[in-house]
Amino acid sequence: MIKPEAMAAGHAGKVLDMILSAGFRLVSLKYTRLSEAEAGKFYEVHKERGFYRELVEYMASGPVLAAILEKDNAVQDFRKLIGSTDPAEAAEGTIRKRFAESKAKNAVHGSDSDENAAIEGAFFFTTREQY
Ligand code: ADP
Ligand code: MG
Repeated sequence: MIKPEAMAAGHAGKVLDMILSAGFRLVSLKYTRLSEAEAGKFYEVHKERGFYRELVEYMASGPVLAAILEKDNAVQDFRKLIGSTDPAEAAEGTIRKRFAESKAKNAVHGSDSDENAAIEGAFFFTTREQY
């Protein structure tokens, strides 16, 4: 997912280009906006964390670009492409190093396991939107 601040800054095209150039195939793509209730559900695993409220408000603050991506070793390779959660710690050449504003507003989301990728994909897309 390309997060609201990166969308508002006009980075969507460049981020998508980096993703496709890295060998990921688009299975699904959607321009949409989460309600606070939806953002809260998407990030439910973090509900006990101090930053949860801020995270939910931020993720509902504007449109996002949601995608399902396919590649061998996709979860690990995508996390490598996006870089560390905190852009100050993200490696050169990563999406977060280039586009993230802060640890909270860090430009992109990536699933952390195949299991969660399936859950998060189903959150945004019906089976008829996955090719
Ligand atoms: P990642 O997105 O790298 O998997 P996490 O799953 O740990 O990172 O956190 C989810 C999201 O919550 C982060 O991408 C970021 O937007 C936000 N976040 C994480 N840690 C903090 C923090 N300490 N302060 C503010 N926001 C945070
Ligand atoms: Mg995470």
